Amino acid sequence: MSSKRSRPGEIHRRIIEVMKRFPDGITGGQIREELEKEGLPAGEQTHLDRRKRDLKKWFRIEKVIEPRDIGGVKRRVAVYRYKGDRDQVLDEGDIGLRLRAEVIHSAHGRCEMCGRTIGRHGIVLVVDHKLPKEWVGTNDRENLWAICEECNSGKKAYFKSVNLDPVLMARVMKYRSVHMRIGELLKAFGIDRPVPSYLIEIVSGESQDDWKKRLRELRYPPIGWEIDFRRWKDERGKSRVDYILRKWLPWQDDPSGEIRRFEKEREARNKARDELTSEEPLDPSTETDS
Ligand SMILES: [Zn+2]
Repeated sequence: MSSKRSRPGEIHRRIIEVMKRFPDGITGGQIREELEKEGLPAGEQTHLDRRKRDLKKWFRIEKVIEPRDIGGVKRRVAVYRYKGDRDQVLDEGDIGLRLRAEVIHSAHGRCEMCGRTIGRHGIVLVVDHKLPKEWVGTNDRENLWAICEECNSGKKAYFKSVNLDPVLMARVMKYRSVHMRIGELLKAFGIDRPVPSYLIEIVSGESQDDWKKRLRELRYPPIGWEIDFRRWKDERGKSRVDYILRKWLPWQDDPSGEIRRFEKEREARNKARDELTSEEPLDPSTETDS
């Protein structure tokens, strides 16, 4: 999400011209053949795949896996179709080509947000910062994912609608306590504002099981926050989870320490109770939300 802009080069334009001549779609091999017929310089041929990947910055290219007759054999191959120019240059900024390729590759053709695939749905994947760059989201691998163009624009629209202060967000990331980072993120969105779970995960810097536990711990009596969650299906049927802050209280000096102390005391209490009775301990704060 940087503002770095670039323009298509000569070779990009030539690939597009070839694609336009094949409105039903053209394979990578055919593009190469067509360009060779036109006398493509040998030096350019080795970079053709990369050039082809670059195209989506300026043009809408549909890539679909289709059965094609290749030298008399039916094979499923990637077929490209030119769909038009973009109004705005896709904003993938300064993520290195190798890293970008790695992110796209490990998505296996599937949008990591909605689950639709290149093969079945004709989506185009873009590399996106989970935590936007304006909020000090990094170019680190764990902050990048491959999502489809529709999810990407939906995400941008949502972030625009919540209108968060980048300075505030940068401050959120500076807290050393994971509880405070999660809590301050929820506060930044505000009371009753849904916060997508992928954002909490990235801000927490922890694995899914761990951040969910940290979030539940904010509901413990020493912290006393009220946080709801909602599970919903997006328009493509993919299950999503948001967390919603209902009430927050000012932090104590060491919230993470307070939580650990509370857990220790509760454990000791439960143990003492177990020794007195054989009944299962009933403690509402051990409820899980999954
Ligand atoms: Zn998607």
